[in-house]
Amino acid sequence: MTVGVEEVVTWIGTSADRITERRDELTKLDSAIGDADHGANMTRGFKAVVEKLNDSPPETIAEAFKTTAMTLISKVGGASGPLYGTMFLKMSQAADGMDQIGTAEWADLLDAALDGIVSRGKAVLEDKTMVDALSPAVDAVRNAADSRDDLETAMRAMSEAAAQGVAATIPLVARKGRASYLGERSAGHQDPGATSTHLILDAAADTLK
Ligand code: ADP
Ligand code: MG
Repeated sequence: MTVGVEEVVTWIGTSADRITERRDELTKLDSAIGDADHGANMTRGFKAVVEKLNDSPPETIAEAFKTTAMTLISKVGGASGPLYGTMFLKMSQAADGMDQIGTAEWADLLDAALDGIVSRGKAVLEDKTMVDALSPAVDAVRNAADSRDDLETAMRAMSEAAAQGVAATIPLVARKGRASYLGERSAGHQDPGATSTHLILDAAADTLK
């Protein structure tokens, strides 16, 4: 099995489905420590991405990520649109000339994804953001690449690491984004953005193999 542009398009479509299925949960999480729009933001954005990818099917992996990035930036208000948009934009740059994804390529793509989110949002680990799900996921894939694990093994380790990262956001006090306005009162709640990051990565584990 090879992982190329078709599988990447399937990944984005599966992410859209999972986000839509979990919309109410994302809304509920954001209502506890934000403004209750994360479910709506993500559903609207990914629906538009899927439409765009259907209307003009990408020919390369880089193009698929670029369309995803541009659509999220233009359709999603709030913090998450520009953050996920920049993430996919950096992935598009890292995918330049890439026609197949294996463990080493996926490690490079995820490095770029994290770089995108961090360069845009300036969050560090334990600020209670998407970074808390993405950063351990990147580490897991880099370790898998170093041990020459196959993509499926790398993806399983990635998804597990992201899930642990999401759970680890619960006791944290938010230091970035709207949730930081709550100060200590943000502790005891799971971060919505980390949760959507895990959904997207878990969809990757199920489709990029
Ligand atoms: P908004 O906060 O503008 O309403 P969303 O509700 O769509 O936007 O997204 C909120 C999520 O965005 C948070 O749960 C958090 O994970 C993420 N987030 C906010 N600010 C940052 C940041 N500076 N860096 C990384 N992630 C962030
Ligand atoms: Mg919000």
